[in-house]
Amino acid sequence: MPIRAYKHKHSINKGKIQTIKQILTEYRKTAIKIAKKQWKIFFKEGSFNKYADIKDIPSNLSERYKQTCQSQVVSVLNSYISNRQNDFVEIVKNSNLDEDTKFILLTINKFKTWFNEKLKEAKLKDKETKKVIKTLPIEKYHYKIARKIIKQTFKKNRFPSFKHISMQLDQKVAKIEKKKEGKAKEFDYWIKLSTLEKGKPIYLPVYKNTYFEEKEGKQLNFVQINEKEDDIEIVFLKDLPKETNYIPQTEKISIDIGLKALFTVNTGHLFGRQFYKFLKHYDRIITDLQASLQKQGIKPNESKRYQELNRKLREYIKNEINRLLNKIIKLYQPKEIVIEKLNFQNSELSPQLNRLLNRFGMKIIKQKLQDFEERFGVEIIYVNPAYTSQTCSNCGYIDKRNRKTQEKFQCLICGRKINADVNASRNIGVRSSNPMIHKRRRTVLRMLVRAYLSDAKNYACNSRACEVILSNRYFIGYYEPLRITSKEKS
Ligand SMILES: [Zn+2]
Repeated sequence: MPIRAYKHKHSINKGKIQTIKQILTEYRKTAIKIAKKQWKIFFKEGSFNKYADIKDIPSNLSERYKQTCQSQVVSVLNSYISNRQNDFVEIVKNSNLDEDTKFILLTINKFKTWFNEKLKEAKLKDKETKKVIKTLPIEKYHYKIARKIIKQTFKKNRFPSFKHISMQLDQKVAKIEKKKEGKAKEFDYWIKLSTLEKGKPIYLPVYKNTYFEEKEGKQLNFVQINEKEDDIEIVFLKDLPKETNYIPQTEKISIDIGLKALFTVNTGHLFGRQFYKFLKHYDRIITDLQASLQKQGIKPNESKRYQELNRKLREYIKNEINRLLNKIIKLYQPKEIVIEKLNFQNSELSPQLNRLLNRFGMKIIKQKLQDFEERFGVEIIYVNPAYTSQTCSNCGYIDKRNRKTQEKFQCLICGRKINADVNASRNIGVRSSNPMIHKRRRTVLRMLVRAYLSDAKNYACNSRACEVILSNRYFIGYYEPLRITSKEKS
């Protein structure tokens, strides 16, 4: 179930804010020490331990506070590891290792035994009967490879830092008390917060957030306290139920992330046609400002205007993505959404903005889709977009020359004329049942060419089509028989 965070206004005085900041400083220091200890445990035992004995860790926090802190640290570390597990899978699936080795490595990864070598064999089970089909012994060198891979993912993704974390406090140290009925003058909530001084809690007055109150779901007994410049931010959490009145109207839609319109759906609908116009506009202003700052010897991050523009740009991207995806889901109510793994390259935008779209933009898209998954139960499938723009969605013929311009697609074999992005989105839809996601571009191309030629109809093409295929470098080495036939004919 999705857990949502909601900011709440408060009326905490300066003195109390000082006290909270002292706690926060100590909390962060303690978190760093706990994390160090947890990593030691991890490399020895293979997993973190939420209940590890931390009495020996020096801190001004009470033991209860330390426990709360440890829970938070461990949950952050666990989510870091689970992401690295996913990276591991990608690396292994993309490798040239043989199938048995792949299976052994994936088993080690699944059970997180990279470091403790606890597992001695990998058991391949039948998906349906759950019976063991094959047992493979796990050797020392398997562990060596597994460690090498997982360490490689560690290198690419820094360990989580606890220097600037906010506090996620449970009831042990922060109790939420709701206003008693009938006491009109009181605040809506009081948080009883333990401090660094034993037996001297402080009480934090908090206003209610109507939006939060009206949201169906269960309020969690957690308070999140963030630092915000001179102030403090109070956040409550709610566990939202799944929406039950979402009834799928469409089996599947597929979405292409394009350069003309942000999203193109396989039905032919284009969403976000103004998106790039707006981005280009912002991009120019920001690039100009950067150049002028550079002339003056000012670092961009020292400029308030630069920061403000960047913030606005991000906000725009985020709002547009969310708005358009909401529109799409409302319109089609799909059971399944197939979307490409974005690799953004728009030559009309600065490299900086391209990078921003690749990272930040894709993150927002993923978040929104995950939200659909959690709330409506929509299945989300990411596919490899390699060659989707050059393949004909009608006959499957793949050729660079099929793409006439940025917008126009015309198949050289079957003659189908179609908007290029609509064509791409249809190809994306077809890939949802194909394991191409883990393949390299080269492999994808090979698969597409073979698939095209495996259709006898395409193989025995008329002479005009043969000429086209013969002059297509993608098919070199795959259509020798064709070459002969074509020579024999002439
Ligand atoms: Zn075609």
